[in-house]
Amino acid sequence: MFVFNNIKNLQQHLSSINDDENIGFVPTMGALHEGHLSLIKRAQKKSDIIVVSIFVNPTQFDKPEDLVKYPRTLENDLKLLETVNCDVIFTPTVDEIYGDTIQSTSFTFDGLEHQMEGKFRDGHFDGVGTIVKRLFEIVKPTNAYFGEKDFQQLQIIKKMVEKHKILINVTGCEIFRENDGLAMSSRNTRLTKEHRLAAPFIYKTIKKAKKKFKKKSPKKVINWVKKKFKKHSLLELEYFEIADEKTLQTIEKKDSDKKYRAFIAVFAGEIRLIDNIKL
Ligand code: AMP
Repeated sequence: MFVFNNIKNLQQHLSSINDDENIGFVPTMGALHEGHLSLIKRAQKKSDIIVVSIFVNPTQFDKPEDLVKYPRTLENDLKLLETVNCDVIFTPTVDEIYGDTIQSTSFTFDGLEHQMEGKFRDGHFDGVGTIVKRLFEIVKPTNAYFGEKDFQQLQIIKKMVEKHKILINVTGCEIFRENDGLAMSSRNTRLTKEHRLAAPFIYKTIKKAKKKFKKKSPKKVINWVKKKFKKHSLLELEYFEIADEKTLQTIEKKDSDKKYRAFIAVFAGEIRLIDNIKL
């Protein structure tokens, strides 16, 4: 396993790869867990050389304290990556990526950026677009893998690739969960014991909402979820929305030839957790 923290050395190494071998790329912010590893395993099915980046991207954090507190566990991450036979790890410094100006570029993603996370996390998707585009330009992969855990981000990356005519196949990978249903996340390690025990309620509730959606209107399902969280003493609902998978626009009525997904963001104490489910 090769580990590079500098662009020049990484590119020099990647330029020695044979023409008939293709690169699969998995961008991460580290604090790796089984969810991240599932993306790598998926990438290994289609790509010959797997590059994983570990970079806590400052421009996608809307709250400075969240950036400071984001878990950084590089030593453990490298051990985990060894267990899945990852080929190349890229762990650049902020300086290496941004130089003197830690700033994001402004993007338009045809409105995808204004929904859900976009409403609550100012500038988040400009930060995501900026770092992913930069990493794509550095690594130049054939395939890139993103989790459906961040479904809005996945759709935005697909839109960016399409709009900027970037020749990379973007693949979405299923949400990997703990045994109790909680979607794996680097943020889970920051939950208190009490909040960790409470957190599976999120997935349980959206699974029930999925069942209800078969017979009830979106509005009724949304109100039911809101009520459930109002009664919960440890979890605070930020949003629960039912939206078209493609446009991410919320819906009032079901249309039989469209695909829908429910999206949720919840505060468990200080920690903000997100999840989603195909309806
Ligand atoms: P992060 O390090 O949180 O930025 O995540 C890096 C990539 O892993 C993103 O594409 C995430 O969507 C994906 N990811 C994070 N958690 C999970 C999970 N539980 N299941 C599947 N993919 C995930």
